[in-house]
Amino acid sequence: MNIPNPEPRRLWRSCPVCGTERGEPYLEKGALRMVRCSRCGMLFANPVEQQYVAGTFYEDQAAPFYLSPAKLQSDYSPVRFQRELRLFRRFCGSGDVLDVGCSTGAFLHQLQAQFPGNYRVLGIDVAGAALDYAASQGIPVVRGDAEAPGADMFLTHDFGASRFDAITFWAVLEHLAEPGKFVSRAAALLRPGGHCFFLVPNMKSLAVRWLGRRYRYVMPEHVNYFDHRTLRRLLAPNLEVVQVKATHFNPVVFWQDWRRGQRDLVPPSERAQLLQRTSAWKQSQSALLYPLRLGYRLTEWLLAAMHLADNLVLVARRRDP
Ligand SMILES: [Zn+2]
Repeated sequence: MNIPNPEPRRLWRSCPVCGTERGEPYLEKGALRMVRCSRCGMLFANPVEQQYVAGTFYEDQAAPFYLSPAKLQSDYSPVRFQRELRLFRRFCGSGDVLDVGCSTGAFLHQLQAQFPGNYRVLGIDVAGAALDYAASQGIPVVRGDAEAPGADMFLTHDFGASRFDAITFWAVLEHLAEPGKFVSRAAALLRPGGHCFFLVPNMKSLAVRWLGRRYRYVMPEHVNYFDHRTLRRLLAPNLEVVQVKATHFNPVVFWQDWRRGQRDLVPPSERAQLLQRTSAWKQSQSALLYPLRLGYRLTEWLLAAMHLADNLVLVARRRDP
């Protein structure tokens, strides 16, 4: 006789931006139950499975996703963080950098490889296997311990007297059950004049407007869905926003997700393979691809100018006490 799996443990949340407990059902996809805050309009998962809150999910994802050859090749390619690096360099030319949710360490690797001697880097992540890989590439990392396990370790880890010139959250806030606590901890760890960098999927992007729930990044491990208004509001108590940008556009994601069913989730291996192919195209020097690349850049530029690109990047500095 088959014994049914126990019901996954779920956590009920109040709005991660304004704290209100009133929300209306917005959409469902797989295990995702998305609601809309009736006070501030924030879209978020509620309830959310414990595996996403505690971070155990990210350990399980290591083999099929983060440590798959396709994802590693994409993440470690020199074009992967091109846009982020351009923006980052404008605000932080040197100093101490902490990457929260550093995964396999690819961003910090690019900082060290492209600007040798300029930065002292440190990575922190909930996934031990990803950190092992980062450490194997010479990236110093912070690990959870018995006192500070799981996804909250950034909140509880003792950084001693260390303070940072830049703290980055590349595609991290959308995964956190209590993102406001991470923002306030990051603000407290900044040096005077230091900056925080946040990249999240843009809920006002053309892709989301067009594809709705079909969009692959509407998925159970994303528990927060920001637009520039809700993200600004999340940061406001601790940080002053100095730049907002929409960035990135992937027409293949658009095409593939348009053809997909309303509620189909994209397997991690398929996502990793497409990221690998996209990085390879961006690096290709073939003259045949020149007109395509030109069209692509123009479209991305236009979408960014209209704040319709795939991701939202906010740069913020600490509010003076
Ligand atoms: Zn709210």
